[in-house]
Amino acid sequence: MKELRNLTFEEMETLAAEAGQKKFRGRQLYEWIYKGKTDFREMKNLPEVFIRGMEDEWRIDSLELLRIQKSKTDGTQKFLFGLGDGEAVESVFMKYKYGNSVCVSSQAGCRMNCSFCASGIRGLKRGLSPGEIVSQVLDVERETGETVNHIVMMGTGEPFDNYENVARFIRLMNDRRGRNLSMRRITVSTCGLIPGIRRFTEDFPQVNLAISLHAPSDELRSRLMPVNRSYHLDELIRACREYTEKTKRRVTFEYALIRGINDSDRHAEQLANLIKGMLCHVNLIPLNQVDETGYTTAGRGRALEFMRYLESCGVTATTRRQLGADIGGACGQLRLAAR
Ligand code: SAH
Repeated sequence: MKELRNLTFEEMETLAAEAGQKKFRGRQLYEWIYKGKTDFREMKNLPEVFIRGMEDEWRIDSLELLRIQKSKTDGTQKFLFGLGDGEAVESVFMKYKYGNSVCVSSQAGCRMNCSFCASGIRGLKRGLSPGEIVSQVLDVERETGETVNHIVMMGTGEPFDNYENVARFIRLMNDRRGRNLSMRRITVSTCGLIPGIRRFTEDFPQVNLAISLHAPSDELRSRLMPVNRSYHLDELIRACREYTEKTKRRVTFEYALIRGINDSDRHAEQLANLIKGMLCHVNLIPLNQVDETGYTTAGRGRALEFMRYLESCGVTATTRRQLGADIGGACGQLRLAAR
């Protein structure tokens, strides 16, 4: 069956026209979909024949809720969704002072193989369809009864390894005739696929960009993140500068502190030298320990020292509050545990 949540507004109009309906039926359908309706029978203003025609061919929600984990401490909820082909993906709902955020996956698995990450342990299965990403947002809203104000693409997968579908997902969320979520409230995170960053800068200058940096030198970064062997740091930083110049938006550098690996004052100094003067911000993340990797987290005290060191060099940094630590917050952990 085909997924309605893959379709744009115009494509739904065409769908209506091809079914012998007036175009505005497509608009009505689109509006129902983005009100979160998953049952054609609840779409009260659509003609019976149109609905009957669609029921055989189209499905609305492609995800099956397999598991929910709720943090006892901070309102974080983690969802494991099953896909039609037996794969599973994770999405995380988080409450912040400034609103609700959902972290969505872009692929089932990942082929980037970062050494500290659980997502890549079993390799890439496949990229998600736009509708499967849309469904994570709409289904999390349905399950929590809350409205999502921000979307971060920081779940499993590399968004720029599934560029077309991610691009369509962003446009669907942004369409003012449906979900109407501002581009400024969406953040895409990449491990550093430079052609993707350049394309994204052109296509989505209003969407926020985060870079998973995690190391301040090519030598260390290539060890932690194989992607760096193809796309080196200087070129990555250049692509980020192009983004900030074109968009006037600051780029976020994600840096997970791994004890004894990337967390010394020397690393902080190298990092400051690398990005000093850029319109940017460093987000220091406590490493979520994944047993398979053997790395441990640097600890809160070290994170604060690292942050102060960066700030003394004129680089703004924050340490991320660790949400959902009690429910296996790291990417891919739930998916891995479910197998
Ligand atoms: N592939 C994209 C999107 C994933 S985002 C990217 O790399 O940016 C998920 C973020 O969590 C990335 O910054 C990733 O490097 C980080 N991450 C992965 N494993 C982690 C772990 N065990 N602890 C903390 N952060 C981790």
